[in-house]
Amino acid sequence: MIKTDVLIIGAGISGLAAAHYLTQKGVKVIVLEKEPNAGGMCRTLHKDGFLFDLGGHRFLTKHVEILQLVKKIMGEDLVKRPRKSMVYWKERYFGYPLNMHDLNFNLRLTDKIGIFKSLMYEMTSRLVGREKDINLEQYLISKFGFYLYQSFFKQYNEKLWGISPSMMSSDWAVERIPNLDYKQIILNVFFKRLTSSKSLYDDFYYPQQGGIGQIAEEFKNIAEKKGAEFIFDTNILAIHHDKLKVLKIDCLQGNNKIIFCPKYIISTIPINKLIKVLNPPLGIDSLKVDEVLKYRSVKILNLMLRREKVTDYTWIYIPSKEIIFFRLQEPKNWHPNNTPTGYASISLEISCSKGDEIWSAEDSVILKSSLKGLKKIGLNISEKEIIDCFSSSIENAYPIYSLNYKQILSEAGDVLQRIENLSSTGRQGQFKYANMDEAIKMGIESAKSISEYV
Ligand SMILES: Cc1cc2nc3c(=O)[nH]c(=O)nc-3n(C[C@H](O)[C@H](O)[C@H](O)COP(=O)(O)OP(=O)(O)OC[C@H]3O[C@@H](n4cnc5c(N)ncnc54)[C@H](O)[C@@H]3O)c2cc1C
Repeated sequence: MIKTDVLIIGAGISGLAAAHYLTQKGVKVIVLEKEPNAGGMCRTLHKDGFLFDLGGHRFLTKHVEILQLVKKIMGEDLVKRPRKSMVYWKERYFGYPLNMHDLNFNLRLTDKIGIFKSLMYEMTSRLVGREKDINLEQYLISKFGFYLYQSFFKQYNEKLWGISPSMMSSDWAVERIPNLDYKQIILNVFFKRLTSSKSLYDDFYYPQQGGIGQIAEEFKNIAEKKGAEFIFDTNILAIHHDKLKVLKIDCLQGNNKIIFCPKYIISTIPINKLIKVLNPPLGIDSLKVDEVLKYRSVKILNLMLRREKVTDYTWIYIPSKEIIFFRLQEPKNWHPNNTPTGYASISLEISCSKGDEIWSAEDSVILKSSLKGLKKIGLNISEKEIIDCFSSSIENAYPIYSLNYKQILSEAGDVLQRIENLSSTGRQGQFKYANMDEAIKMGIESAKSISEYV
């Protein structure tokens, strides 16, 4: 039986930030992780001098204290990098987020007319008053008009989420999709009133040595120096409680059972998994939680190439369902240190669900389909140029905001709140489409809230 002040479950960036905060205060912390290393989704894979993030990650935040903290732990290794993101749509490249300059110059006349008509309809139907937007489809149509929805947003969302936008809550889009004002679209598309295309080149922060994973590594190293103990390759079996407090936690490391007896637990694992391991079960049907609070997975094909570069861009979005990947990242354009001199690399992100055809496919099958897709978007890569390739995968990449997710999430949150020495936090623990800065903030906030227990 291992005793500690705080047991943190999950060594992703939120768990690491919590460990960093608590060890600075002299609290005894153990961090438990099912994988062999720390970082969670903010990890960088190293292969033969090539660095691949688990999906390109840029660090940006509006929280000054989080920026200061990350700058402090990273020192001069955190640098500003230019973002150059594009979308391949209607067989052309546009700046992304869709910007006025490109819509104005790149769109065909028939598309401009389609956009104009549907936006005029949206504007007039707003004047006469209309039902409130309740699902993602309604939200996107009201913001961008039916034409842009049908030809762009519908395909992209169906490809990413695997379900129709009419089956999803609009919360995701409200938080994430940059808002184009329709009056602005009309003025720019038709009357050539140019606005700046600055968004194409916005800056972001990025580590210059070890990919995005360097931030997680630094958090871990500092916490470890201050006494945090990390236990990897270890999975949670059961969290035993008396309905008010956690009493002990059973874990499995290889064939060995380990029992922990912490004063407090910070869990950053998916909330549906946490509900499932509670023993006895607590007033909510774990199958129902599992069914509603679902995640979309991502498979990433990483290619190491015998050529100088593939594109000038950090990333490219591809809404077309005819192309297997929804996003292409070029690590060299994130930071030159991500790729050995004279070589290039790309990561192709493919949306899927755990256990489906793509999730289970051999790399060779995904490669074949990806090469076809690359050709279609004008980036022809021959097999001879490929030095090596491998896939990586993220099981709980994106929380799917279904129409009734809020109700079940709130019920699950109420149940968990009854156990006073347990907090569920981070992107997975809160079932929140949060960026890494928010995940860091959530981890620190959970750590701050437990001072009375330690
Ligand atoms: C494709 C992609 C691109 C992204 N791009 C960006 C970006 O550009 N900028 C940005 O700021 N954010 C980005 N994000 C979001 C960012 O990755 C997350 O906000 C952040 O990593 C969440 O950290 P976390 O610690 O909350 O969760 P995780 O990183 O998921 O950490 C949870 C940890 O718990 C562990 N765990 C799970 N179950 C168990 C168990 N049973 N026992 C023990 N351990 C367990 C997991 O292995 C994991 O290490 C992106 C995410 C994805 C998927």
